[in-house]
Amino acid sequence: MTPFETFWPETFHHAKQHSPFYREQFRGLTAAPRLEELPTVDKTILSARNSDFLSVPRERIAEIVTTSGTTGKPLLWMLTESDVDRLALNEQISFECAGVTPRDTVLVAVSLDRCFIAGLAYWQGLRKLGCTVVRVGASSAMLVLEMIERVRPTVIVGVPSFLRVIADKAAELKFDLKNCPVKKAVCIGEPIRDVKFVLNKSGQAIEAAWGAKVYSTYGVTELANSLCECDAGMGGHLHDQQLHLEILDDAGKPVAPGETGEVVATTFGVEAMPLIRYRTGDCAAMLYEPCRCGRTSPRLGPIIGRKNQKLKLKGTSLFPSTLQAVLEECVGVESFAIVARAENELSDSVEVLFHGDAAVAGLGEAMQARAKILPKIRHASREEIEALQLPSRDGGARKRRTFVDLR
Ligand SMILES: [Zn+2]
Repeated sequence: MTPFETFWPETFHHAKQHSPFYREQFRGLTAAPRLEELPTVDKTILSARNSDFLSVPRERIAEIVTTSGTTGKPLLWMLTESDVDRLALNEQISFECAGVTPRDTVLVAVSLDRCFIAGLAYWQGLRKLGCTVVRVGASSAMLVLEMIERVRPTVIVGVPSFLRVIADKAAELKFDLKNCPVKKAVCIGEPIRDVKFVLNKSGQAIEAAWGAKVYSTYGVTELANSLCECDAGMGGHLHDQQLHLEILDDAGKPVAPGETGEVVATTFGVEAMPLIRYRTGDCAAMLYEPCRCGRTSPRLGPIIGRKNQKLKLKGTSLFPSTLQAVLEECVGVESFAIVARAENELSDSVEVLFHGDAAVAGLGEAMQARAKILPKIRHASREEIEALQLPSRDGGARKRRTFVDLR
């Protein structure tokens, strides 16, 4: 039996019996139907009926975390003791996938507080794996550098923008980060690769400054799960005993293998808040051929954007991340903002504002080459761009928003 055949009926019966939401939704069904026949659930439903997803008595809850949503109130997400064990096992497998061993000393440069699940997950998983863990957190680059010197860690886990802040601090202090013992950087929350798995500017900058290999990991709070890359760097490996993933198109139909669509997940082995066909809102492609590392589990490619950020442009669609990548790589662009407005039913209008001495024509050519579109592009003052870039809350690091959606 495949893990899906084993775990899907269990998940169905547990949810139907214990979750008020699924009891209502699955009324009349006695056996687990084909998964594809069931409706999907999105964040709006989850938000409106948050407590109806709880499938155990409240006194069995061990941890309550919140989702890191950028819109609306974060959801409450609850875990039993067994769910925390599942979370730890998932991270253990993820770190093993990145080649982390019990001999490693690992800096967790992620918040363990503020109701985030990520820090808790990494800490638990690394301890389970048998590593030495140092919870430096994400608030002080100085503390991270000091601990690198004092405990000589071999791995760091953090948000790419924070790893770059640490690198800047090291350069300022003439701290030799490149030759420090840290040889692996597990990156969360922000992309470090493009769709072709090539390191983007951020991934390259981290490898260069830290003299370490980067590994991308993608996690979703509501799934209490993450997928981490192996040495091949060709997508995050799925742990199919804990999670089932589908990639769906706009009409809710599965896309062909390797094509991009929305990541839709079903959790296995979750007690407190099981989810069936949950639309994550993230878009990526799934790859099914065996990996260079020898593992045969499916892999999830880089997240290329949020489904609701997808731009409609003259008959084609495009994610802002494609334009962001061009702007980040362009010499002479100091800061930028991509502004989307609704033009009509079929098309959005996109305007790129940038500060710096790059030429508008050169930027236009780069966009034509990479994104096959030519948006309106204009110079703007640093102040005008900063006014558009309100900071957003994500993964414990402060990020400036470069995509401004006014649709
Ligand atoms: Zn692999």
